[in-house]
Amino acid sequence: MNVQQALSRYFGYEHFREGQENIVRDVLSGRDVLAMLPTGGGKSLCYQLPGYLLEGTVLIISPLLSLMEDQVQQIRLRGEKRVIGLNGSLPYLERQRALSHLNQYRFIFASPEILQSEAVLSALSAVRISLFAVDEAHCISQWGHDFRPDYSKLGELRERLGNPPCLALTATATKEVLADIEQSLNMKKPIRHVYSVNRSNISIKIEEYSSLEDKLQRVLELVRTLEGPGIIYCASRKWTESISLYLQAEGIKNTAFYHGGMEPEQRTLIQHQFLYGQLDAVCCTNAFGMGVNKANVRYVIHFHFPAQMESYVQEIGRAGRDGLPSAAVALIGKGDRDLPLSMIDSEFCTYSQLHECIYAMSSGMTPEDAFNMAGISEIQGRFILHHLTSFENGIRGSEQKAIDWIFSRIENRRRLKLEKLDGVLHWLSSPECRRKGILAYFGEETFQKQELCCDRCGVSLSFLKQDQSKRRMDDQLPDWETELKAVFGQNE
Ligand code: ADP
Ligand code: MG
Repeated sequence: MNVQQALSRYFGYEHFREGQENIVRDVLSGRDVLAMLPTGGGKSLCYQLPGYLLEGTVLIISPLLSLMEDQVQQIRLRGEKRVIGLNGSLPYLERQRALSHLNQYRFIFASPEILQSEAVLSALSAVRISLFAVDEAHCISQWGHDFRPDYSKLGELRERLGNPPCLALTATATKEVLADIEQSLNMKKPIRHVYSVNRSNISIKIEEYSSLEDKLQRVLELVRTLEGPGIIYCASRKWTESISLYLQAEGIKNTAFYHGGMEPEQRTLIQHQFLYGQLDAVCCTNAFGMGVNKANVRYVIHFHFPAQMESYVQEIGRAGRDGLPSAAVALIGKGDRDLPLSMIDSEFCTYSQLHECIYAMSSGMTPEDAFNMAGISEIQGRFILHHLTSFENGIRGSEQKAIDWIFSRIENRRRLKLEKLDGVLHWLSSPECRRKGILAYFGEETFQKQELCCDRCGVSLSFLKQDQSKRRMDDQLPDWETELKAVFGQNE
């Protein structure tokens, strides 16, 4: 069977999308491949199709639980039973059973954390891994070094599994991040397939407001008038709740909020309601998105702006996966620029907190108690613990050394974050075309002028105004079949 036949037989598609075929061919030839395709560009197919043509099992490292579950489900819906997601939420017995039969799977998804388990690793070593795929590989660079240390061990891990060919996939990586990915995964002479991050069907609009009331007013107006469904990104959990309540109080009933502090069942419910077209808008933090593969999201509103361009591009990329005209509207308020600053600050503990907890730990207190005493949050604590691993003989007697070392890491990390934020602020205030600015950030110099581009190029959102009569009909007759097909990617 050749790649074209596999494409139509297993996926039901007639044509490859841009980049897919070349990526698949290089993967099949056994080379290490680093692929950057825009959000919604069809990256999953690049590791799934080879699964049907190579002998053995494709192992996919996936950064987020929800993303993994979504991928597993989509593959199952296509009729493929030989797929499993290994993660912490798999019940013990199921996990044991899966581990004793790993050979029978065509696709094994795994979180970086679960791959640290010796039982999982030794079960995997007995499997013939035909491809080691890393999805959303920019997370290696974004999280790996400080917060998800297990990510930075992926290179070693690949070696333990007999060095199968590696495919790293991402939608948003700067040149530095691409290099970082290759290095972290120990890729050998990788072939790079880097395509433009540009999403030409998404119009970009930035609007400035002098007061919070004006911003709230505007978000209401947008949700009322734009064709949905839409996603509204906020900077904090509390804001997602407030805005959703505000919209509901103003008569927009089909809205909900979503954030990482909610119960898992509640989160799944909201995600499903959104996927099945029961919600017009979801107000959420950045916890919502990566696993949400909904083709017809028409707009993404940023009520608050993220602290780096990578996140912005990922988030607006959730609009218009069906290729139809869509909008990204960011509402910028006067004080908003301080918000990311304080968020960056809250990620790190102060020198005196660090001092307090290190001395407490060296006198025998558990890390947990020491963090509590010093008022150090979970995320700050994780950072500290990770950097303490380089003190193999413990910290007693080298407390000051440990403090200085960790604080230098903190300062380093903070500097990096501030530079990223500067990039965002520079882009926001630049008089240039927004799209050109985004592409330049990702190192793309060439760029074609396009219709419906951005506010700097004079775009208006009238193309997205909803047709009220059509909307009422939709309400009466929800076309769930089309919706389902769209959700699960069988809309061809
Ligand atoms: P990405 O991971 O790049 O964001 P996905 O792999 O989730 O994107 O794919 C996005 C959508 O495009 C899915 O619904 C998928 O089924 C669809 N798709 C992928 N490849 C093709 C293709 N060759 N033809 C038609 N649709 C495709
Ligand atoms: Mg993807």
